[in-house]
Amino acid sequence: MGRLEGKYAIVTGASRGIGRAIALELAREGCIVGVNYQHNQALAEEVAAEIKSMGRECMLLQANVADPTEARAMVRRFLDAYGRLDIMVNNAGITRDRSLRKMTDEDWLQVIQTNLNAVFFCTTAAMQPMIEQQYGRIINISSMNGQTAAFGQANYGASKGGIIAFTKTAALELAKYGITVNVVAPGFTLTDMLSKVPEEVQNQIKARIPLGRFGLPEEMAKAVVFLAADGDYITGQQINVNGGAYM
Ligand code: NAP
Repeated sequence: MGRLEGKYAIVTGASRGIGRAIALELAREGCIVGVNYQHNQALAEEVAAEIKSMGRECMLLQANVADPTEARAMVRRFLDAYGRLDIMVNNAGITRDRSLRKMTDEDWLQVIQTNLNAVFFCTTAAMQPMIEQQYGRIINISSMNGQTAAFGQANYGASKGGIIAFTKTAALELAKYGITVNVVAPGFTLTDMLSKVPEEVQNQIKARIPLGRFGLPEEMAKAVVFLAADGDYITGQQINVNGGAYM
């Protein structure tokens, strides 16, 4: 028996990286998982196949969560199929790194829309059934760089800091319905997002991590599952999973 047997979960950005690991870990613990992706259908299908090979159920949910209509329709599709949503993991995210002197309006707006506004769209859609159920677990993936400065990431840092602030207010407002809202804040994690950082910069970053290595997507997923399965009295909080890179 998994720790989340029979629970229904949606993970945004679950075709790759951290979202993929979260979807797999939730399925391993017994969840029926909605696997959201934007472009990479083939990879999302691989995640779905892996979930099915565990004997678990899942649903592919193509949607651009940065679009409010698509984000809300995605949650609706899952509810039409299963009638319940217990766990919403807002994980989808992008970077458009540039120093402020070079950052365009588009760089700024795309990152805020995808990383922050989408969390609002998906949370407000997911909370409706959770209020009716008087139960819900909303877990938002922020970042160490929402807490500390990173060169070239004014847009990303603002979006991730915004997630932390949003989470606290959502936790306050939704507590009376049995809904908890928390953040997992990864440090540098081995995914496609990190691979965009030049190798030389990666080496400099690694040298500053007290535990001496980058995080694994599975290590972020464990924190998410902890909050979903064992975090009944935890709300409005954040778990930093960063190897000590920011204390
Ligand atoms: P990743 O490997 O680049 O994967 C990003 C995922 O998000 C993909 O599944 C992608 O879907 C999806 N996505 C992007 N835009 C989307 C949209 N508009 N609608 C729906 N899905 C969308 O990223 P990652 O490293 O796993 O990061 C996951 C989360 O962790 C992000 O919020 C990121 O900011 C955060 N984080 C990452 C690190 C790190 O070092 N990797 C550190 C701290 C925080 P497609 O495959 O279809 O494009």
